Amino acid sequence: MKVAKFGGSSVANAEQLEKVASIIQDDKERKVIVVSAPGKRFSDDVKVTDLLIELGEAYFNKQDYDGKLQTVLDRFHEITTELKISDQIIQEIKDGVKGILASDDSDELKMDALKATGEDSLAKVLSAYLQSLGLKAAYLNPEEAGIFVSDNPGSAQILDESYDQLYKLRERDEIVVIPGFFGYTKDGKLITFSRGGSDITGSIVAAGVQADLYENFTDVDSVYCVNPTIVDNPKEITSLTYKEMRELSYAGFSVFHDEALIPAFKADIPVCIKNTNNPQGMGTIIVSKKEPQPNPVVGIASDTGFISIYVSKYLMNRELGFGRKLLTILEDEDISFEHTPSGIDDISVIIRESSLTKDKEERVITRIKEELDPDTVNVDRDLALIMVVGEGMDSTVGLADKATHAFTKANVNVEMMNQGSSEVSMMFGIKADKVNGSVKALYDTFFE
Ligand code: ASP
Repeated sequence: MKVAKFGGSSVANAEQLEKVASIIQDDKERKVIVVSAPGKRFSDDVKVTDLLIELGEAYFNKQDYDGKLQTVLDRFHEITTELKISDQIIQEIKDGVKGILASDDSDELKMDALKATGEDSLAKVLSAYLQSLGLKAAYLNPEEAGIFVSDNPGSAQILDESYDQLYKLRERDEIVVIPGFFGYTKDGKLITFSRGGSDITGSIVAAGVQADLYENFTDVDSVYCVNPTIVDNPKEITSLTYKEMRELSYAGFSVFHDEALIPAFKADIPVCIKNTNNPQGMGTIIVSKKEPQPNPVVGIASDTGFISIYVSKYLMNRELGFGRKLLTILEDEDISFEHTPSGIDDISVIIRESSLTKDKEERVITRIKEELDPDTVNVDRDLALIMVVGEGMDSTVGLADKATHAFTKANVNVEMMNQGSSEVSMMFGIKADKVNGSVKALYDTFFE
């Protein structure tokens, strides 16, 4: 049994939905289908989820939202007309949106319910279309399916009891179509996962039904070993481990939601990333263990928008609790840290630029000065992190040497280096404007 999830671009219009239907028909094991809301049809297009968010914002700001609603309705109308199926969904969306806005729920809950309308409506449309093709198919609401979540609007977490409930889906003999991106609390509130969360639903459902495979259909042939907007025609990754995928998506690989790996990983369900526009392609498979590969490096990821807080103090290494006190100051400001490369008398704490507002920065620096009495403290901006990732690196000699040579060739100064003892990745901190040149040089070194 396979669980197949189709992302926004795969369900963006009628033509894409025809491809989805034929993929479903091609393999009888594709019994559980999870869908996103219609995404972009062309690069300047707006995703239905974004339209719904704009609709909600207009309503909360007491502005006119009819235009936004009409755009959503038009998108669905175009789909039902071209697929030649009933357009009753149009009335359902209108009534649904009115009902949400008129309810006594908090604004947060209203927003989640609005956001979920895209996925929910598309799942209904797809199941109606599959039926019109003569297939036995049914729409299934996440509450009925048993997707129970925590009460955190916009960032739901799955409750463990969902998995037993979902296992019962194995008994159904029709194809079930479940909308992605949201679940329900035990007391019946609709709550969404974080953005891009249909991947999470797919993974949860795959773990719940103990699928043999979780297929994640998107619009690229595979995961590439480096960002294709930086390197032309990079090599494709045919297989990688959950750990490797996690490291790569942390530093900028956006093909698969990083939270979505957890349910599949825990249940040991292989995940296959495939292209709706080229379903015959091999895709990329994510598994828990893979055979040793000739190249110990699987990918190079990079992300910008980091800051480093550098603190130095003579004899820091002998001062018990220095690191704890420093991190407590950040914790008190609700700032989560990413890495902490350190020396004998200095430590850098790397954080996301977006987490340090001007106010927070002033308070953090003042407290560090007052409470830790350092020799130096400064904030280094515009940093980028580059991760060189591969599970095979732990048993290979000379990789750090090769990597630093690549930086030398690109004439880039490495500001920081970090390698955890698991040796799944090497992290390099450099100035953000040097990212592309460095990534190209690393790609040439490890893949050409
Ligand atoms: N439609 C939602 C979003 O745009 C969820 C998803 O597509 O996975 O974030």
